[in-house]
Amino acid sequence: MSDRLELAGRALQRPLCNHCLGRLFASVSRGLSNEQRGFLVRSSLPEAPAPLEDMSQCSVCKGLFGEIEKFASLCAKESEGYEFSTFLVGTKIDAEIVENEEAFWTEIGAKETESIKAEMNREIGKILERKLAKTVDFGNPDVVFLIDTRFDKVVLDVTPLFVYGRYRKYSRELPQTRWPCRECRGKGCPRCGGKGRMYESSVQDLIGPILMKHAKGTEEFFHGMGREDIDARMLGNGRPFVAEVRKPKKRALDLPSIQSEVNAGAGGLIDVEGLRPSNRSEVRSIKESTHPKSYRVRVRFQQLIEQGKLNELAAALAGKPISQLTPNRVAHRRAHLVRERTVRDIKIESVEGSEVVFVVEADSGTYIKELMHGDEGRTKPNVAEIVGVPCEVLELDVIGIGDKEA
Ligand SMILES: [Zn+2]
Ligand SMILES: [Zn+2]
Repeated sequence: MSDRLELAGRALQRPLCNHCLGRLFASVSRGLSNEQRGFLVRSSLPEAPAPLEDMSQCSVCKGLFGEIEKFASLCAKESEGYEFSTFLVGTKIDAEIVENEEAFWTEIGAKETESIKAEMNREIGKILERKLAKTVDFGNPDVVFLIDTRFDKVVLDVTPLFVYGRYRKYSRELPQTRWPCRECRGKGCPRCGGKGRMYESSVQDLIGPILMKHAKGTEEFFHGMGREDIDARMLGNGRPFVAEVRKPKKRALDLPSIQSEVNAGAGGLIDVEGLRPSNRSEVRSIKESTHPKSYRVRVRFQQLIEQGKLNELAAALAGKPISQLTPNRVAHRRAHLVRERTVRDIKIESVEGSEVVFVVEADSGTYIKELMHGDEGRTKPNVAEIVGVPCEVLELDVIGIGDKEA
């Protein structure tokens, strides 16, 4: 008799269902379910007891495998009303059952086993694939069913909906994200006129609620590839972002028509383009990305500047590192530290009296206003210092992000 049949003989000293018998040999061959494997092993042993009439007699799973249809039905019920095409099943098994089975394997010397949890997940997954006509996806499922087998409880974990796009912002009074009132933190107070926010609207407010309405979600979040100052316009190709909607009931959205709806509703404050499905890992990558950016900045000097002085700027700054201590204007919400950034290029676009328009290309995270006026010496070197005349920034626009520049 083979070693495996001997092992099966030892195992069958106690009542076992075919699932739990087959799982002793799970890694022996592919293409069979554990139940089929258990059935075959049992049939090859002349003295094996007949298959269990009552699954709950199984000394390992206590009848759990008799309940998989029920668990699948609970999952199907929990997912009613949600649109999804892929899913994954996760089960929580009573720790006592798991420990008993492991002790049993040690006792009989079984080494080609599979955990009860892995088999439950797979078998319930197969039933659900048939029942719901959806596909199991291990990598990026639309929903995850978390089954607690002890209490017949299913929690549906719905993967958020992620939509990528680029936005342009034409307003100098619009923050990128919703900004709760500093005084009341969103509850509404005299300072914010009861609105609970510092600004009437935001880029997020013009995009998120529309997506949420179509996706029938519960909450929305906005992830930008960095952000511009409230009073800076965002031009050129726009800034990449991913909008996130939690617990969406609809996933197959008509994004071109949503894009038109956003643009029509924005009243010229922003527009968006290139909306397409995204995912969580893209959120991570746009948040970590450090593309250089191009800016157009209009500056007023306290007196007229000689052209020769202006021409020195490029030589003094382009390709050079500058050091920036956290600016005064953001010091209340950012840590104080010195950052080193590189100004890649600085060009003079126009000069009108004491007003000069510069086009600057700089590392991601460079404080451009401070590069101009110096922020009381916190940014060094700076334009005002090199020219020898104090200046103020009148207007700032971001005109390009990354290698695609306007
Ligand atoms: Zn069993
Ligand atoms: Zn308030």
